[in-house]
This record gives sequence, structure tokens and C-alpha cells, in this order.
Amino acid sequence: MADYDAIVIGAGHNGLTAATLLQRAGLSTLCLESKLYAGGMASTVELFDGFKFEIAGSVQIPTSATVSKELGLDDLPTVDLDVMSVSLRGVGDDPLVYYTDPIKLMTHIEVHGAEAVNGMAGLMAWCKAPTRALGRFDAGKPPKTLDEMYACATNEFERSTITDLLFGSVTDVLDRYLPDKEKHGALRGMLALLAVNTTYRGPATPGTAAALAYGFAVPDENALLVKKLRGGIGALTSHLQDVFTSNGGELRLRSKVDEIVVADERVTGVRLDDGTTVTAPVVVSAIAPDLTITRLVDGAAVPADIKERFSRVDHRGSYLQMHFALDGIPEFAPPYELLNDPDMQSNIGIFSTPEELQQQWEDCRRGIVPADPAIALQIPSVNDPGLAPPGKHAASAFSLWFPPADARSGDSREETQSSYGEMKVEMGRRVIDKITRLAPNFESLIIRHTTFTPKHMGTMFGAPGGDYCHGLIHPDQIGINRPGPKGYVGQPIPIDGLYLASAGCHGGPGITFIPGYNAAQAVLAEKA
Ligand SMILES: Cc1cc2nc3c(=O)[nH]c(=O)nc-3n(C[C@H](O)[C@H](O)[C@H](O)COP(=O)(O)OP(=O)(O)OC[C@H]3O[C@@H](n4cnc5c(N)ncnc54)[C@H](O)[C@@H]3O)c2cc1C
Repeated sequence: MADYDAIVIGAGHNGLTAATLLQRAGLSTLCLESKLYAGGMASTVELFDGFKFEIAGSVQIPTSATVSKELGLDDLPTVDLDVMSVSLRGVGDDPLVYYTDPIKLMTHIEVHGAEAVNGMAGLMAWCKAPTRALGRFDAGKPPKTLDEMYACATNEFERSTITDLLFGSVTDVLDRYLPDKEKHGALRGMLALLAVNTTYRGPATPGTAAALAYGFAVPDENALLVKKLRGGIGALTSHLQDVFTSNGGELRLRSKVDEIVVADERVTGVRLDDGTTVTAPVVVSAIAPDLTITRLVDGAAVPADIKERFSRVDHRGSYLQMHFALDGIPEFAPPYELLNDPDMQSNIGIFSTPEELQQQWEDCRRGIVPADPAIALQIPSVNDPGLAPPGKHAASAFSLWFPPADARSGDSREETQSSYGEMKVEMGRRVIDKITRLAPNFESLIIRHTTFTPKHMGTMFGAPGGDYCHGLIHPDQIGINRPGPKGYVGQPIPIDGLYLASAGCHGGPGITFIPGYNAAQAVLAEKA
């Protein structure tokens, strides 16, 4: 008799989703997490005394209504914002304000020109068929073949958008809908960053339109807006953890899985790094699929061609994430005084144009840190005061591009290590300098700060290359070229009882719950 009916490896939001659904369906389920806390990259963590940070993911993107309902996400307290974000370039340009009220938003965008309104409407129409083809929010459905992707188009225009999705670039699409590089610089920059943060490619690189469609996609017309959770994004995963354990599920923290044990082509359980073994006929791995197949499963249990395919996944994470404990609120100088209104401070994008982002990416490939990096700055404590002590603030900044390991120069390991550290300091400095150019007291307000590179994120969460997508959104890593719960469509993993559930699976990165949901559905369908 096995110890449990099912074991889930990893308590990120996908692992917790799978564990919750399995436990609720009556399978006694154990969820094993290597860290001290559950939530993975969707966690709120007190990094400094009294200062809490959304350590990675910070906004809940529009979520599938089916999944939201099943997981009870709709009733979680949110931070109601009048302004979701403000985009600017920081060169004296007019900020673009994303009001949550659609009428207010359209009225404001009109100030930036009727072409901006028409361009955004055009982009939304462009994105419809690619959204269906990608199936990012499709609960319980398999990834699509190329033919099935084209079949999502209802007319010739939509067929052309599927061709864009597969072969086009971000700039191809932006040049079509928002061609004014100056007037729409911030908007183009925001959209370009939204896209390429899930790639290791500049926005002019063919194939990046897939990431634009991916970032711009929403489940349906009723779910357009992103959400901020009260208490930070960790409120989502704390909720899942509560539902899982209150239904009798068992979560074990500080429990790193070293091996998925397989005998006679079926899983029998897992071995932990302390040498203990736990048995179950079902193992759901909610860590990166390639790590699962090439490292955790005994090599002899996986055919060489499948193993080789998984070993080719591109994981070149190339971002920097900084967290700041601030002694007060930054004060923005003219012409950006508008940002001193607390309503405007939740999410400030200081973007580079797509052309600048392209150049910065090309430099990054040669190991050069951008001189003027694009930054997404958040000060969530402005609207959610529990995240920082009274009068203080917790801020986070996300920035591109930080050169990944293979882009750095240096022959010896020692030299590479030191250049890595130097680049981290250099890029961190540039992020602080850039924010301080707009808000002159920013640097003096910093009580403490920390900088996470992809390497740190990789160590913290076991994500290869620090890649939070667990497989970047390149056209050769979407659709049937992204695994589902049983591996790649047409080349399933021949191990009974083994399922894949992380962001590296179909459904993909972001806090969508879809890969975890799909894995649980696959387990339950096979049990039925
Ligand atoms: C800086 C940053 C900003 C982001 N911003 C957003 C955002 O605003 N909105 C959004 O939707 N997405 C965002 N993302 C992406 C999003 O956070 C991730 O794609 C998503 O959280 C991944 O979820 P997951 O459950 O698949 O994996 P993870 O969250 O990585 O969970 C995997 C878990 O498995 C554990 N683990 C690993 N190896 C083992 C092992 N051997 N044994 C046991 N446990 C193990 C890890 O500790 C981790 O807890 C961001 C990511 C980053 C890094």
C-alpha cells in the first residue's frame, strides 16, 4: 500500500493548484516544497523587518473563469486601483495613464491622439485569433498543432495574424498599428517590454510576435484587467495552501525531491534529498519539465529521443529584479509631478522604445549591461499599507536585459564569476540612477535593498537559468512544441503515473493556474 494517492513536487501556484484539485477529488495528496515557504514565484515575502515584497510575480493577469471559480479566487480581497499603471519614457514625454475605468482610459488615450485609440483597437483585433491559437487560458485542453492554430482563424485577416504569431516580430506588429515612434514611444515601449520579457530576443527579432500575443491575450472580453491582491500576490498562494490543507492535504516544506522513482515504466514515488522515500502511484511534477525529465527521473526510464528533446529547452533568463525598503515616498520632479499623486504610484513603467530595447538586447548578447535600462517600478505599499511599516514604503523594480551566462566574456570560471557580480552591481546602479533622475530623493530614501539576478532566482526556486517561464515563449516552444501533462503531444513520456504541471507546460508562464489545472484534470481523467 502506497503512502499517498498522489505526490506533487513544488508548491508554486501550479503545484498548489494541482494538489488542491487532487485532494478535493478524494486523492490523499502530499505536496513537497524545497523552500521554507510555499508559493514559489507567486509569494509575498518579508525580506527586511516589516517590509514585505512580491518576490517575483506581482499582478494577477486575467484568469480563466472556470479555474477562478473552481479554486475560489474570485472572492479574495483586491486592492482597488483607479490607475493600473503609468507609462513614460522619462525624456520629458507625456505619461500614458491606464485608468481602470474604460471610459476614462479612452478619454485619456485620445489626448495622445485618435491614432492611439484606433491603434489599440487594431491590436486587440489582431490578438484575437492568436489568443485562441495559443490557448493560454484554455482549461483542460491540449496544445494545438500548426494546422489547429490556423483553424482558429475565421477569415483571411485572422489567418494573417496566425502567420504573424509564428513568424512576425513585435515591431512588425507595432509598426502596423502604432507607427508613430515618437508620439507613441511609451506605449510602443510598454507593449514591447510586455512581450519580450518572456523571451531572449529583441523586439525586432522574427518570432517575437508570439510573445506579444501571449502577453496581450485575455481570456475573454469580460476579463480585461489585471488585479492586485491585498497583502500582495502571495494572498493567492496562501489561499490555495489553506484550501489544500483544510481539505486534508499535507504540505511539507524544506523537502527537496532528488529523484522520481520509477519501476517497470511506472512511478512508485519520490526520494528526498535526506534519503527518505515516499511512495505514491501518481507523481505530479510542478517544477520545470526538462529538469523533471533530465534530472529527476532515472535516465534509463526515459527514451533518449525524449530526453534529448527536453534538454533543448531555451532558458536564458535575462532580467534583474530589485527590492527596496524606503524611508518615505519618492518625490517626482517636473515634468513628472503627476506621479506624486498616490493614485499614480502603484505601477510606473519607465520604458525604452522598441528600437532601444532591440539595441540593448544586442548589447546584452555581447555581455554588455544596458546604459539606460527599461524599468517597471512598483510601490505597492502606497495602496496596500500593510506591506511596509507606517510612513515607510516597499518598492520593487524589474528591468531588462541582464546578460545571461552564455553572453558573458571571460575564459576562466573565476573571471566569469567576478564579471557576473560586477554586472549585477553595474545594472543595479543604473536602475537606481534612472529612477533618481525622475525622483531626485529616491536614492537617499533607500534604507536597504537587494538585487536578484536570474542566477539567484534559479537557486531560490530551482528554475533553470532563472527563467520564470520554465521555457521561454519562442515560437518553437509554444503549441505542440510545449509539453502538456503527459509530455509533448505525439511523443508522450512512457511512464505511467507521471504528470507535468509547471509554467513550462502548455498554458505557459504567468500566474494562470492553467498548467496545474490541466495536470490535475489529466490525473483524474485517467483515474476515472
Ligand atoms: C521578477 C518576476 C516578475 C514576474 N511578474 C509576474 C506578474 O506580475 N504576473 C504574472 O502572472 N507572472 C509574473 N511572473 C511569472 C510568474 O511568477 C511565474 O511564471 C509563475 O509564478 C511560475 O509558477 P509555477 O508554479 O509554475 O513555478 P514556481 O513558482 O517556480 O514554483 C515551483 C516551486 O517548486 C519548488 N521546487 C523546485 N525544485 C524542487 C524540488 N526538487 N523539490 C521540491 N520543490 C522544488 C520551488 O521552490 C518553487 O516553490 C514573474 C516572474 C518573475 C521572476
